[in-house]
Amino acid sequence: FNALKMDTNILVLGADNVGKTAITVRLLTRRFIGEYGDMESIYCYKVIIDGREIPFNIWDPAYSQESVLCQSSVQEKQILWADGFVLVYSICDRASFNAVARQIHHIRSTKDSLGVEKVPIVIVGNKRDLQHCREVSSEEGRLLGLATDCPFYEVSAAENYQSILTMFHGLINRVKEYKCAV
Ligand code: GDP
Repeated sequence: FNALKMDTNILVLGADNVGKTAITVRLLTRRFIGEYGDMESIYCYKVIIDGREIPFNIWDPAYSQESVLCQSSVQEKQILWADGFVLVYSICDRASFNAVARQIHHIRSTKDSLGVEKVPIVIVGNKRDLQHCREVSSEEGRLLGLATDCPFYEVSAAENYQSILTMFHGLINRVKEYKCAV
């Protein structure tokens, strides 16, 4: 647990426009702004879990759509930096959902080559408020979570702060579990 206090790095990944920045900003400010620039940012933040403050760094990288589709361009240094991953897709964008399994595989094989066996990853279906343009069912998300052994959450950065907070707590707890298991 003490190791976690020193340095927990969370990387937010996913295709363009799925809401990576919206989720990050929502977590940090509790607000949904609606329009976000293409800035790449690393933020420091803390959550309180079981009465303890847990500081962490969160990296929201800027990508172009092409680079996401090409797995190898998910920068190795970002994967090496991160202790935990938030893999975001939009429930209104099937291509973004299809990219998730590839990215999980890429993250795991990169970490595996460094001798890291267990990698905390959560799968996040965002834009849950946009039911009328849903392309990916909750069941598909749930099954992907089971198949890849990653917790699955459906959230809305626009309309539900609590869903974002619950998802982050889930990830931080998983990082904590894995660090304790080492
Ligand atoms: P990123 O490219 O993955 O960082 O995506 P952004 O965070 O920039 O969001 C892309 C667009 O989707 C923006 O117009 C956001 O306002 C919108 N957006 C993000 N999350 C949600 C959500 O939960 N619901 C709705 N309706 N729109 C969202």
